[in-house]
Amino acid sequence: MSAQLRARRVVETLKEYHPPLGGRDGLRLDFNENVDGCSPRVLETLHSISAETLNKYPEREPGEQAVARHLGVDAEQVLLTNGVDEAIHLLAETYLEPGDETLIAVPTFSMYEIYALATGATVRTVQSNTKLEFPAANLRQAITPQTRLICIANPNNPTGAVATPEQLLAIVHAAPQAAVLIDEAYIHFGGESLLDEIGTIDNLFVSRTFSKAYGLAGFRLGALIGSASQLKMLRRVASPYNVNGVALTCLAAALDDREYIVSYVAQVLEGRSLLESFYREQEIPYWPSQANFVLAYFGEYRQQFVSEMRQRGILVRDRNSDPGCAGCVRITLGNRAQTARLLRELPEALASIGFAPRPVPALAAKENV
Ligand code: PMP
Repeated sequence: MSAQLRARRVVETLKEYHPPLGGRDGLRLDFNENVDGCSPRVLETLHSISAETLNKYPEREPGEQAVARHLGVDAEQVLLTNGVDEAIHLLAETYLEPGDETLIAVPTFSMYEIYALATGATVRTVQSNTKLEFPAANLRQAITPQTRLICIANPNNPTGAVATPEQLLAIVHAAPQAAVLIDEAYIHFGGESLLDEIGTIDNLFVSRTFSKAYGLAGFRLGALIGSASQLKMLRRVASPYNVNGVALTCLAAALDDREYIVSYVAQVLEGRSLLESFYREQEIPYWPSQANFVLAYFGEYRQQFVSEMRQRGILVRDRNSDPGCAGCVRITLGNRAQTARLLRELPEALASIGFAPRPVPALAAKENV
């Protein structure tokens, strides 16, 4: 019998995370991207890119220095990554042995679980209550000596909920043997950053992305910030060329154009409060958000609602299969004109499917905060 190539056993059991990227024509309020655009200065830099940017291997360090200056930390405390996705992957590869434990509060961003499982580690999930608040006490109590990685999105996706610095620091201090990632992908839209604590706590990591407020999801550019000694370990695992030269060349322009970020974020926050008001007026249950999206409960109307919106040229995201999110749909906010369009179409879409709001059913699991 001839031998057959097989993936590692744990890989064979992994589910493929396949985001529904196909056929995304229309107003893309489904992926929490910046649908307004990006800084015009980035586009200008992009147009001036020379062959040399493409034909030489990219150098990450100047970019790390620029991000460090921007964030007020040392360059040795910054590792640029191929999006926050890669930062999570590198943390899992650096700290997890098979059998180690990863802790996450759910619902949350899917990639924490996937990268942790791929190493052969186990993943323990702590469910949020019906209010989808951050389950701070339960997460802290779930820490064991085997816990080696804890990933927390703050603000969280898909809930928009935030954790306080005190809650987060209590977890960081309760698990000195674990790498604790505070993923601040949505920090421009709300929540308090833990960046100031970097350098004083060895097991704390903060991640930032250029995919959301900066509007550069296609660049795949993220940053992992942590203690210099721990980042040394991560740099051993990372490819020296993990961030492409085009993204690195445009990075300074993105950081320098603060005006673009301020104006875009202001429009998102305005839109978020209009959308939340709409939900309140219509008595549609929703979870108050500190991010660039809002999760709301449409119950058994959810699928019809998503497809009715699609027919109207607006893509929104079905989050039904996220733990504790049955019947939920998440809508990303865009710029002022895009929010106006959303708020014109929403009531019409709801009327045309004969929607009637329902209260959110309590979670079957024991309520916990
Ligand atoms: N973290 C969170 C909480 C996210 O929601 C996302 C994207 N949806 C990411 C990280 C991924 O960011 P990036 O594009 O930088 O990989």
